Amino acid sequence: MKDISRRAALAAAAAAPAAAAMAQLAPMPALAQQAAAPGGQAPGFYRIKVGDLVVTRILDGQFQRPLQGFVRNAPQQEVEAALRDAYMPTAALTIPITFMAVQGGGRTVLVDTGTGGKSGPTAAHGARNLAAAGIDPAQVDAVVISHFHGDHIGGLTTADGKAVFPRAEVFVPQAEYGFWMDEGALSRAPEAMQGNFRLVRATMAAYGDRVRRHGAEADVAGLRAMAAAGHTPGHTTYTVASGNQQLVILSDTTNHPALFVRNPGWHAVFDMDAAQAEQSRRRLLDRVAADRAMVVGYHFPFPGIGHIRQRERGYEFEPAQWSSEL
Ligand SMILES: [Zn+2]
Repeated sequence: MKDISRRAALAAAAAAPAAAAMAQLAPMPALAQQAAAPGGQAPGFYRIKVGDLVVTRILDGQFQRPLQGFVRNAPQQEVEAALRDAYMPTAALTIPITFMAVQGGGRTVLVDTGTGGKSGPTAAHGARNLAAAGIDPAQVDAVVISHFHGDHIGGLTTADGKAVFPRAEVFVPQAEYGFWMDEGALSRAPEAMQGNFRLVRATMAAYGDRVRRHGAEADVAGLRAMAAAGHTPGHTTYTVASGNQQLVILSDTTNHPALFVRNPGWHAVFDMDAAQAEQSRRRLLDRVAADRAMVVGYHFPFPGIGHIRQRERGYEFEPAQWSSEL
């Protein structure tokens, strides 16, 4: 009897840790029922290191575009099929927006700025996520702008047109500045583009003599610029390099990867010179695939960091694994 109870006690002791572990795994209905329904998302920022530099990806949000007419040179059924292939809804295209900061050597450089809340409430989280990442607009030394579309320059100014970054220099491609500031281009532009011309002019005015224009290939606030025209006349990509590591910022060389990385020959409705944009896209995707270079894409699913793999037809974006460590 004594023996049996001792065996039972030993068995119970042996089972205890397993039982405890099971209890952790098992659902706890009472607690679950008491907990409030979760609301909203966690702050949208994510960091990686590139050599000695810290790159922080900052989620601005997303907007939706009707699928009809979004790809100018592919039948609607093929575009829908590409989205189904990527397990995405086909009723409309949700386009994410993520800009970034590069920090090192005591300097903070932003690359693009999001919409600044000027494109509706779903793409208006940039300022909040920048703050969540611990970056104060007053400490930003430089803002590098890939091109002048509103979802990239909108965050430079407040709703009433004041500079958000009080002491930052703003680096812009000369070809981009030249186009959007040209009176002739403004007078020839269709009605739908007039608003963007106005935004560019107001933004440049807000920064006045802090706007720095650079050539097609230049060192810009520690990044290497490389022209990739077509999406806009001065659209530019950048490389962040430190030590033996590098990160290629694809900017808007492709819009959503499920469509335009897989099908580099497809032309997005936003591309101002679609043939030139395709040439830039193919050249860059080819290079980063061959180099196995880490890339970020502005309209890639957050945090939009990964690699480009060449496929039999087109390419594929392979997202990088999240790391709990920096
Ligand atoms: Zn864009």
